Amino acid sequence: MSAARKRVAVVGVGTMGSQAAWRLAARGAEVVGYDRFAPGHDRSAAGGETRIFRSAHFEDSRYVPLLKHADALYEQLQQETGRELRRLTGCLLMGPTEHHQMATVLQSIAEHGLDHEVLDAEALAKRFPQYRIEDGDAAVLDRRAGFIRPELTIQTAARRAEQLGAVIHRYTTVREIVPVANGVEIRTDTGSERFDTAVVTPGPWVNDLLPDLPWEVDIRRLVSAWFVPTTNAWFGEERPAFIRTAPTHCYGLPSPDGISVKLGLSQALHRPAGDPNELDRTVQPEELEIFSELIGRYLPDLHPDPTRLSVYMEGYTGSSRPLVGPLPGAENVVLLAGFSGHGFKLSPAFGDIAADLALDGTSSQPIDFISTVGRTEA
Ligand SMILES: Cc1cc2nc3c(=O)[nH]c(=O)nc-3n(C[C@H](O)[C@H](O)[C@H](O)COP(=O)(O)OP(=O)(O)OC[C@H]3O[C@@H](n4cnc5c(N)ncnc54)[C@H](O)[C@@H]3O)c2cc1C
Repeated sequence: MSAARKRVAVVGVGTMGSQAAWRLAARGAEVVGYDRFAPGHDRSAAGGETRIFRSAHFEDSRYVPLLKHADALYEQLQQETGRELRRLTGCLLMGPTEHHQMATVLQSIAEHGLDHEVLDAEALAKRFPQYRIEDGDAAVLDRRAGFIRPELTIQTAARRAEQLGAVIHRYTTVREIVPVANGVEIRTDTGSERFDTAVVTPGPWVNDLLPDLPWEVDIRRLVSAWFVPTTNAWFGEERPAFIRTAPTHCYGLPSPDGISVKLGLSQALHRPAGDPNELDRTVQPEELEIFSELIGRYLPDLHPDPTRLSVYMEGYTGSSRPLVGPLPGAENVVLLAGFSGHGFKLSPAFGDIAADLALDGTSSQPIDFISTVGRTEA
């Protein structure tokens, strides 16, 4: 069957699903998307106005080629739609020189010739007075980095897919995905539909939808907190995003509105989400203590009382590497899950890879290290 005639379901039109729908529709597939809410909603892994984009990966330099692919597709989607989905304001990575994430970031930069600057304490204090670093810390400015607008990106990709012929069923929960001869059946509360292939991108609902998944995906509850600066230190000409690697991993983004700064924490500090349908969206005062500590130590120009708090969910694998590829026992189902807190920046690349796998059964992108094929440990 030719790619142009393939019928492909996209289950979950969130971060990855909206990109997959766009890439599939762009290649002429007949695409039908399903989401339990609507593209751009805030009850899952996306939301909160900003996500960091960066080129120099500190988890694993094997992501860099995928980041380059994502980078090109962000540009393409912006050009096709005329929307500003990202702004490249840079991303400042700070932390102990000896920490493995600093070593990986420098390895990414060296291996791939990435545009960057290394700043010593004096240069950092002069250029970015809003940050404090400690003895033995390094600071690296990744220049092809900045922030992405997550809600706008998801809605733009979904809308572009619809312009190219995709149909998206909003407020339609998929209950079951059933492999059938040469295809797959998608069951909802109102009926079932048959497809050649399904791309399954349910984010934090992955264990609900696929209870027999052979890998563990731990669903965590992530708090985003917004703080208002007490001085003008945050409002220089340059407003990079930042990541502090250790001793407490945290990150932050000056809001596009120029009024506040959003802070977030690492996986180890996130509580289990429990049932994704019953997410506790109330932040308890004790959950704020860590933010106050970080502000006191590294970001003293922020007022320690948050002006806004939001709660999201994300699925983490044991290795922090996502699960990308065929679902065992269901060769016509392509799974993308477990993005472990770092999927957004890569989402156009993952959408394109999903389209490769759904239409051709293979991808030319270097995905062996994240593939489901032959994978034993999550
Ligand atoms: C607070 C926070 C900050 C983050 N910061 C960054 C960052 O700075 N940079 C970065 O790169 N990454 C970041 N991430 C990670 C990134 O946002 C996620 O990896 C990514 O959004 C995951 O995408 P997804 O498609 O798997 O999930 P989602 O975007 O949640 O999409 C899943 C979709 O599936 C739908 N769905 C689920 N079950 C069903 C069903 N049965 N039927 C129909 N629809 C269904 C849901 O409604 C949802 O729309 C962050 C994550 C969080 C939570």
